[in-house]
Amino acid sequence: MITDYKRYFENIPDCPKCGQQLSCCEAPPIHVGDGLGWGSEVLYICLNDDCPIFVNGWKQIAERYGHNSSYRHMQIPGSREKNVMMVGSEDAFKGSVIRLDVVEAQNVRFQKEKAALAALDSAVENQDLASVLLLVLDEAAGIDGRKKAISLLTAINDLACIDPIRNHRFRDTSLETECNLAIAQILKANYKKECPYCSELVKLQAKICMHCQKELG
Ligand SMILES: [Zn+2]
Ligand SMILES: [Zn+2]
Repeated sequence: MITDYKRYFENIPDCPKCGQQLSCCEAPPIHVGDGLGWGSEVLYICLNDDCPIFVNGWKQIAERYGHNSSYRHMQIPGSREKNVMMVGSEDAFKGSVIRLDVVEAQNVRFQKEKAALAALDSAVENQDLASVLLLVLDEAAGIDGRKKAISLLTAINDLACIDPIRNHRFRDTSLETECNLAIAQILKANYKKECPYCSELVKLQAKICMHCQKELG
């Protein structure tokens, strides 16, 4: 899913029309002209709004074709061929600029998810709460892996899972519900309850919270 983007950032050419460095953009899925793929997941495009071919393109296209578009200079990585992309607005392609730091961060996250998934099968016998929690709390991780991780919480039976889960905001509330059920079971198995006033764990039979001194019902 994430391929090696780094090489695209090594020799980004400058725009021959304005001299500004081209931007690395995600290639649109289909070559609009002939229905073929670009042969590249990345295109170098000049997104300088003062670039002469962009500035002059509006008038040229209006005169020639009668519609409201302009051109951006474009090159396919690894090819010397100079091209243009027709764009219908100033913002076209600005949302598909690839930032290397973002891609690398995604890559690191993805590798961690992969390692945690691989660790799940033996997470209970290894008491590997770290791998389980990594998936439970990673909003970008796949839903199946997260559900599987949550299903292991009770068997791992580690009270240390409670705080990080309580402090996490789940985008998917069904996952949160499953976590709450698991936490309830873990508390019960460890003869603990959460103080309703300060959220600290106290003994199941405690009448007064040892952390906030409030009376417990
Ligand atoms: Zn340019
Ligand atoms: Zn308390």
